[in-house]
Amino acid sequence: MSSIDILIMLGVFISIIIWGGQSLWIYLDARMRRDRFAILWALLAMCSMPITLIVYIIVTRSTEIRCKSCGAVVEKGTEICTNCGKTLGKHCNGCGGFMEDDWNYCPKCKAKY
Ligand SMILES: [Zn+2]
Ligand SMILES: [Zn+2]
Repeated sequence: MSSIDILIMLGVFISIIIWGGQSLWIYLDARMRRDRFAILWALLAMCSMPITLIVYIIVTRSTEIRCKSCGAVVEKGTEICTNCGKTLGKHCNGCGGFMEDDWNYCPKCKAKY
């Protein structure tokens, strides 16, 4: 066996690990966030890597924030951290409605924070 053959085999081997690994990671990650489509995501990831992986990360990460107190991942729009109970976000000066920390204007009454 020449060294070229070994290199090719190593390349194929690494590709399979990455290919299988990312599908498995997506599946486990989706299961963790109780995504009903976990298996679908994983199957998609197998067919069209790395597009599915990129789309998956964008879709899931855009709907969540991190608690500043304990670092737990909390769904966006949640008023308190479901892990440590710390209040997330702020309340509008005008109507008292819930606002995300990085919002400057209230979506309900349009008041500036
Ligand atoms: Zn927390
Ligand atoms: Zn308001």
